[in-house]
Amino acid sequence: MNRNPSLYLVPTPIGNLEDMTFRAIRILKEVDFILSEDTRQTGILLKHYEIRNKLVSHHQFNEHKSLDSVVNRLKSGEVAALVSDAGTPGISDPGFLLVRACLKEDLEVESLPGPTAFVPALVNSGLPCDSFLFVGFLPHKKGRQTKLKEIATTPYTLVFYESPYRLSKLITQLIEHLGPDRQASVSRELTKLYEETIRGTLQELSEQFSERDVKGEIVVVVEGKK
Ligand code: SAM
Repeated sequence: MNRNPSLYLVPTPIGNLEDMTFRAIRILKEVDFILSEDTRQTGILLKHYEIRNKLVSHHQFNEHKSLDSVVNRLKSGEVAALVSDAGTPGISDPGFLLVRACLKEDLEVESLPGPTAFVPALVNSGLPCDSFLFVGFLPHKKGRQTKLKEIATTPYTLVFYESPYRLSKLITQLIEHLGPDRQASVSRELTKLYEETIRGTLQELSEQFSERDVKGEIVVVVEGKK
């Protein structure tokens, strides 16, 4: 069996450039090419770490199309690293389709441990982290209500990704489906200058955030059903 990975999934910082592992830097230097969700963003990272390597665009809008050509290159013996805009590829970012296509072709895949937003948010929340459900982004329209109904009964801590513009709407809908009393937290700008985590019941958070102009990146963590 081929034990040499053809594809590495390499997590990149979610804000603080110091959150790169030594191995992540080495792999990005050694692979034949880097698949990047956002070549401009990755360019900044590569420059910071003096990594000179070829970037190939691989994002949500071309990943279906570029899949065959990438897999063919890997089958011919090239080795690639996939990086997303920030955090771990495959976590609310492109990655899954390529991993599945590689595995189908018996190409070895290795995912490096590293930055991702939901782990520090979950641990910071003070809510149980032994069992949790990573919900990620709720669908915007179709399927949103069904998903909210589905998760309302889970006993596990719930983890959501949300944009600052939709935070109030999310909290309002969580109150509608889960009630106002569950403990929750909103982690904003993790690893960045204005990092903060605000904890309280959903009702308290709703009051706080309806009065604030919210900016930055956000993870919402909510207590499971008792
Ligand atoms: N792949 C990333 C990961 O591993 O976390 C997630 C990418 S997803 C497109 C972007 C979302 O992740 C943001 O909308 C926010 O919910 C969350 N996120 C990313 N960076 C964050 C940060 N520094 N602080 C809080 N949330 C963050």
